[in-house]
Amino acid sequence: MANITTISESKEVRGLNLIAAHSHIRGLGVDIATLDVSSQAQGLVGQQKARKAAAVILQMAKDGKIAGRAVLISGPPSTGKTAIAMGMAQSLGPDVPFTMLASSEIFSLEMSKTEALTQAFRKSIGVRIKEESEIIEGEVVEIQIDRSVSGGNKQGKLTIKTTDMETVYDMGTKMIDSMTKEKVMAGDVISIDKSSGKITKLGRSYTRSRDYDAMGADTKFVQCPEGELQVRKEVVHTVSLHEIDVINSRTQGFLALFSGDTGEIRSEVRDQINTKVGEWKEEGKADIIPGVLFIDEVHMLDIECFSYINRALEAELAPIVIMASNRGNARIRGTDYRSPHGLPLDFLDRVVIISTQSYSGDDVSQILAIRAQEEEVDLSADALALLTKIGQEAGLRYASNLITTSTLLSLKRKAKGISIDDIQRSYRLFYDPIRSARFVSESEKNLISDSGSVNLAYTN
Ligand code: ATP
Repeated sequence: MANITTISESKEVRGLNLIAAHSHIRGLGVDIATLDVSSQAQGLVGQQKARKAAAVILQMAKDGKIAGRAVLISGPPSTGKTAIAMGMAQSLGPDVPFTMLASSEIFSLEMSKTEALTQAFRKSIGVRIKEESEIIEGEVVEIQIDRSVSGGNKQGKLTIKTTDMETVYDMGTKMIDSMTKEKVMAGDVISIDKSSGKITKLGRSYTRSRDYDAMGADTKFVQCPEGELQVRKEVVHTVSLHEIDVINSRTQGFLALFSGDTGEIRSEVRDQINTKVGEWKEEGKADIIPGVLFIDEVHMLDIECFSYINRALEAELAPIVIMASNRGNARIRGTDYRSPHGLPLDFLDRVVIISTQSYSGDDVSQILAIRAQEEEVDLSADALALLTKIGQEAGLRYASNLITTSTLLSLKRKAKGISIDDIQRSYRLFYDPIRSARFVSESEKNLISDSGSVNLAYTN
């Protein structure tokens, strides 16, 4: 039996804002065995081709066949690029790391761009470490504790059995304290890790199921173990390369994992860790699990970042990099060149592209209905119809936000659900990008220009 410690830290990086908008997504909604895509499943609607392609990539990732490649999800704004990436993340195994990075974060962190990228890459590679430990597992027959009068040193004896054998062990102060803390008593089936002394209560033995007075309603009954008392067990922990880096970086120490303030990590530390992990792999003590690094708004990265990623993808330890962009031809940051999606051509050359399409009215309506359900609000049929029309014209994200603002308005009038009036009022209160652009062009002379000055026609 293996205990799996999952990667928590790297999954946390996804950022609360990004998650909230996608909280309705539970997977890709694709049958992995047959690659059949339902029109709506696990919170995802439509985009069948893109979802199927994402499922293929995921399968390759799970089979360890795609490490070191890059995938680009491209398509117009609000067509579910991030949603599909979130669906992929949900479908990965619990110990396969998934890291989410918004490209603009690279420029705001208090470290160099390449260090931020290196950390993101290393957060996306898991190391599954296998450890053999010796365990005593059996049913407690008797615990005897002799306390000295002064209350100092304690001594004790533990009688423990399996169906085949029974042994008496001497217990020292530390073991007695753990036994007391875990409230171990005769009839409990326990396991003791010999190296750490950790005691785990597995349940009450079935043979004691008649001792009603000694147990609560939620008592778990287990069989008395068979065979030897001392057994060897394999324990599996999964950590990311970044976690190993931080723990081993003397200047930071593991506490930095909790604060997130890891600063820059020296490259010698990383080299040593790569060598060590390589050795563990050779010796069969560890497996490397390439995870997924999702880079949103990838056109925001500059030429240095692209050349870093190009190189990093070639490295022996590399995750799958999935990027998203809503740009057509755009300038590559840090250069005067323009290229598709703002990605350098040599980089684009190694990328597999999945594209998302604009939604039909039905799709928009279904997505909005799912969002309303997620926010636990009732939408009247005419409110949903109006919201769908708004969604098609002004974008899914704007329409989705209107659900939240309209909820507040409906609560204010103590209504049970959102009516068409609530939607109309929110629509008048909050501008969508198109109306905002129109407002800017119409009132240009009243607004401060790029150069920081008010238009002269206005000041004269
Ligand atoms: P951008 O290019 O602007 O970053 P995007 O393509 O990444 O946009 P998302 O952020 O994924 O778009 O989508 C906007 C909102 O619509 C999110 O709340 C998302 O969860 C939801 N959404 C988009 N597509 C789908 C879909 N196919 N099924 C369910 N929800 C979706």
